Amino acid sequence: MSNYVDEVIELVIKQNPGEPEFHQAVKEVLNSLRPVIDANEEKFRRDALLERIVNPERQIKFRVPWVDDKGQVQVNSGYRIQFNSSIGPYKGGIRLHPSVNFSIIKFLGFEQVFKNSLTGLPIGGGKGGSDFDPKGKSDREVMAFCQSFMTELCKHIGADTDVPAGDIGTGAREIGYMFGQYKRIRNLYEGVLTGKGLSYGGSLARTEATGYGLLYIVEELLKCKGDSLVGKTAVVSGAGNVAIYAIEKAQQLGAKVVTCSDSTGWVYDPDGIDVAALKEIKEVKRARLTEYKNYRPNSEYHEGRGVWTIKCDIALPCATQNELNLDDAKALVANGTKVVAEGANMPTTLEATEYLQSQGVTFLPGKASNAGGVATSALEMSQNSERLSWSFAEVDAKLKDIMVNLFHNIDNAAKKYGFEGNYVVGANIAGFEKVVDAMTAQGIV
Ligand code: NDP
Repeated sequence: MSNYVDEVIELVIKQNPGEPEFHQAVKEVLNSLRPVIDANEEKFRRDALLERIVNPERQIKFRVPWVDDKGQVQVNSGYRIQFNSSIGPYKGGIRLHPSVNFSIIKFLGFEQVFKNSLTGLPIGGGKGGSDFDPKGKSDREVMAFCQSFMTELCKHIGADTDVPAGDIGTGAREIGYMFGQYKRIRNLYEGVLTGKGLSYGGSLARTEATGYGLLYIVEELLKCKGDSLVGKTAVVSGAGNVAIYAIEKAQQLGAKVVTCSDSTGWVYDPDGIDVAALKEIKEVKRARLTEYKNYRPNSEYHEGRGVWTIKCDIALPCATQNELNLDDAKALVANGTKVVAEGANMPTTLEATEYLQSQGVTFLPGKASNAGGVATSALEMSQNSERLSWSFAEVDAKLKDIMVNLFHNIDNAAKKYGFEGNYVVGANIAGFEKVVDAMTAQGIV
């Protein structure tokens, strides 16, 4: 086994001090790529391929001054990492959260390169954000921040350059304010952001895309094993965008979903979650899950965590990072769970993932299984470019095709390198190979 991977990991740590999340992401990806890197070492070393792939093409940090409702000037930091444009314009969300720094944005940007590659669509990888916290701010304050943020960001993005989207803290309201300011300054009505409202260039089915895509890939996985979702019991965590539409599609495809959760508690409904009730509680009333019992007297509400203790065939973590740990994995295995597919980004800890795989549980990593969201954002870009809007059915059919192809792509990549059924390795290799191919074709840039 060559030392190339270890040398590059060491270099990343040296060149990016104090960025643990970024180090971690590089280690996880490069370690799982060892089979393909070892097989191509001479060529990759000559082209400094790994040194280039771990270095963002461009990283921008800027001041974001804005005035709060008391007349006080506030100053936040804005970030955009344009990581890799070998297969298309940079694409990746804008995260607005107090924890945002270069390490977080770089880790997310690095992962995004491979996720976007896996969709099969022409999108490169990027990520951005700010340490601004929209929670508790007035609409006017959020608008003031978004306008100031975009006043600088607009110099670096464009429909053919870099197309940001929403992420934690950046929803329809923030995207609207940012789009308005971009248009005003650049005098360009173009698809520079995705996740837009339907009245100004958004795509039908984008709201449903991540949850639906998750179930389309699980369905294909089961189909290849001669099985299906019909009659299966599933547990879901979360009660946000990804969770709601994952539950909806799972039930449409014949499974019974018996749990959901939010940051304070979780629901067990032995008769299957009532999606209409869940949507009303979360999307309309923006209330807590304690309300669910009013709609379904047979259900149970519990404070704290507990979703993973319920017996199920399929587990779908759709809430947040590191929400499924080793103890949870042990509980799932003891209950006979056969498939864990990530709807959220990095919800399963590394130890839990390794344990599940060692016990024969089929594990689909978020990089592959939640890629339906960014894929549908790329479809929004296509619609904007041709100045047309596709029907819900058209977008949904394309999303399904993308997820089915993505599954076979990662399955074949895993088999090709002797890791059949290991979709973590398969996803990293399949994403990486396309990026390497494009980078090699474009010369030393
Ligand atoms: P939302 O904010 O809509 O929903 C998140 C849900 O998770 C909420 O129900 C929230 O509860 C719950 N939650 C948050 N933190 C915790 C916690 N510590 N413990 C238990 N529950 C928690 O986000 P999304 O559904 O959009 O995103 C969920 C995940 O999916 C994130 O990891 C995101 O990065 C990822 N993702 C999302 C995509 C998308 O298109 N939306 C695309 C790809 C990935 P509460 O309401 O109480 O805070």
